[in-house]
Amino acid sequence: MAYKINADECLGCGACAGECPVGAITEKDGKYVINPDECISCGACASTCPVEAPSEE
Ligand code: SF4
Ligand code: SF4
Repeated sequence: MAYKINADECLGCGACAGECPVGAITEKDGKYVINPDECISCGACASTCPVEAPSEE
């Protein structure tokens, strides 16, 4: 299981990337994406995101 960022909702603010304990979130074309192979499903990104774009798949 991993979290995934809804690209239609992501504002590209980068707040989630700074909170991820394993560095699984990177910027791509103005949006942020989660590497599912690195995500440990801690939920920190979802808690930090102002628009709740990350959710568990
Ligand atoms: S759930 Fe946790 S480990 Fe996974 S991307 Fe979000 S902050 Fe990183
Ligand atoms: S905190 Fe939310 S809006 Fe900001 S980059 Fe991350 S997913 Fe996108």
